[in-house]
Amino acid sequence: MKVLVVGSGGREHALCWALAASPLVSEVLCAPGNAGIAEEARCIPVAADDVAGLVALAETERVGLVVVGPEQPLVLGLVDRLRATGIKALGPSAAAARLEGSKAFTKAFCARHGIPTAAFRTFGKEEHAAARAHVEAKGAPVVVKADGLAAGKGVVVAMSVEEGLAAVDAAFAGSFGAAGETVVIEEFLEGEEASLFALCDGRHALEIGTAQDHKRAFDGDQGPNTGGMGAYSPAPRLDPATVERVMTEIVRPTLAGMAAEGAPFTGILYAGLMLTADGPKLIEYNVRFGDPECQVILPRLMTDIGQLFLGAVDGVLDHMSVRWLPRHAITVVLASRGYPGSYRKGTAIRGLEMLKDEPDLLVFHAGTKRAPDGRLLAEGGRVLNVTALGSTLAEARDRAYAAVDRIDWPEGFCRRDIGWRALGR
Ligand code: ATP
Repeated sequence: MKVLVVGSGGREHALCWALAASPLVSEVLCAPGNAGIAEEARCIPVAADDVAGLVALAETERVGLVVVGPEQPLVLGLVDRLRATGIKALGPSAAAARLEGSKAFTKAFCARHGIPTAAFRTFGKEEHAAARAHVEAKGAPVVVKADGLAAGKGVVVAMSVEEGLAAVDAAFAGSFGAAGETVVIEEFLEGEEASLFALCDGRHALEIGTAQDHKRAFDGDQGPNTGGMGAYSPAPRLDPATVERVMTEIVRPTLAGMAAEGAPFTGILYAGLMLTADGPKLIEYNVRFGDPECQVILPRLMTDIGQLFLGAVDGVLDHMSVRWLPRHAITVVLASRGYPGSYRKGTAIRGLEMLKDEPDLLVFHAGTKRAPDGRLLAEGGRVLNVTALGSTLAEARDRAYAAVDRIDWPEGFCRRDIGWRALGR
């Protein structure tokens, strides 16, 4: 079977790497891919949000399965279009992708189905005064969220009423475009955050791993929010009893509810959780793998990913189970200096060849490009994911940073404290 992976980041490199190792997969294609993916898969320059171009590519190449990395093409209905042409695709329909695409939808859905989440109210633009009054009535801390996709920038955890009011005003003034025309105002939840990933076939869900990530740019969780500077798996706070609780109270009711509402969910359901004193509560859903969480989930899986993904698409996950290596995985993101603000493009990265045959070490590429003369160049904000396995998290961490130190890229930076929360315990 030929598989097409859609996307160009570290997440998609990890997907291509894992799928290339599946005995069910004869060839991996990636659109558009990057310089590292090109060593694993045949890259084709079709953009990840070019729905018509991707459908045409899948048809021409007669691919047996399309695996969609990022959320944008899912929300745009790529999977619906592929299914309509008879092509199997792992990912939700546009209707099911609303679990990520609209926070107002997801909060109302949780309320309808008794799924534990922060108490909330939703306000439209015409209710500006009521939204402000609600912030004042609730007091700080309070959380203000733009309804739609805002690249992680639409959420303000306001530590004062003034900050909360400013967040409401900014959303309604158009700071997030259409994504901010509706605002969700939420109760502030206290606890530790962790994520659980479930592979879903519309009716059944299998846990495929847990992780914790690091969103801030600098050590000690300082600096601006980013797409993610590192992650590790498993998340120690998500012990087997807590995982079962999340599956029973959150994930399975979500699948049942989506199916009952006519939008069964197929694909990867990523539950962002707050582990509160009252038990796990849902902060948000994403409808795809996290990046960089995917880079620590897939290397731990022993069960063939090709078989699991097909099982999800074919609706037979109730007959399947997942096995993991009894090991810890960590990934350290190397980013261009200046990220998440502006940064230089085209700087040269050296030293990766030396890491190729290193055991328990994988380097997944994100924003990289191969120059005509063969040099590897940094082309994006997040550029490399140095992923290591170890029998303990500390061992994995030491192995990852030893590799980071052998990469010669003066224009790059990384956090030096990935895993601190779990390692400090
Ligand atoms: P992401 O970039 O994670 O996809 P997003 O824009 O979808 O972000 P959320 O995940 O809903 O937004 O919120 C972002 C972050 O804000 C969370 O990871 C969490 O740290 C914090 N947060 C969100 N909701 C709450 C809440 N109710 N209580 C406390 N913190 C919260």
